Amino acid sequence: MNVAEPIYTGPTPGSPEQVIPIIAELRRLYPQAACSLDFTNPLELLVATQLSAQCTDERVNIVTKQLFKKYTSAADYATVSQEELEQDIKPTGFYRNKAKNLRATGQRIVDIYDGEVPHTMTDLLTLSGVARKTANVVLGNAFGIVEGFVVDTHVGRLVRRFQWTQQEDPVKVEQELMKIVPQKDWLDLSHLLIFHGRAICDARRPLCEQCTLTHLCPSAFKAQPKAVTKKPRATRAASS
Ligand code: SF4
Repeated sequence: MNVAEPIYTGPTPGSPEQVIPIIAELRRLYPQAACSLDFTNPLELLVATQLSAQCTDERVNIVTKQLFKKYTSAADYATVSQEELEQDIKPTGFYRNKAKNLRATGQRIVDIYDGEVPHTMTDLLTLSGVARKTANVVLGNAFGIVEGFVVDTHVGRLVRRFQWTQQEDPVKVEQELMKIVPQKDWLDLSHLLIFHGRAICDARRPLCEQCTLTHLCPSAFKAQPKAVTKKPRATRAASS
């Protein structure tokens, strides 16, 4: 016997009537939502975010606990040998590329920015291995400057399930989110979506039966697991 697919009867996807209650419910569910990378200054957050590409935040936090005792300035990353830094960050994966980017980032911060992490999107994007996601994380969480929306794999998946966008490219997803989400919610909402993605709205098996957003989610009880496609090694760590 065929089971009829549930029909969504909630507010129009992307309308304030759908977006605002989703944000409110996520705030209620995850009042503790925040950046889960450990850091005490902008340089540490920049490094941790670069290390988090294709790695869990938990593992990054384990590695940076020792790393941040040894490397306390941009000059430390600029002057360490490639081999030594590779060994220090190895458990985060893709360590050759990450070490190369961190050394180049340290060198540029020393040469151009007087040893201080820059705090504009334009300047951050000139650093090795830094794309809009990393720049948004650093600007929002270390400097309190919200210029954009952090789009990681959880954020992209959830907003497509809410039908706020059909885009796959994180930069295009970000542009669409900035049109429909109030700016005051950009920073928090990315944390909230990441928390909900980890807790309930899993990529392979969303727990819709436990989710309190079913009346607002067009994908409730019909989100399909996405086929996992492996990217070439060289590009996977470079999309931060
Ligand atoms: S209803 Fe299902 S698909 Fe929608 S947000 Fe909740 S868990 Fe995800």
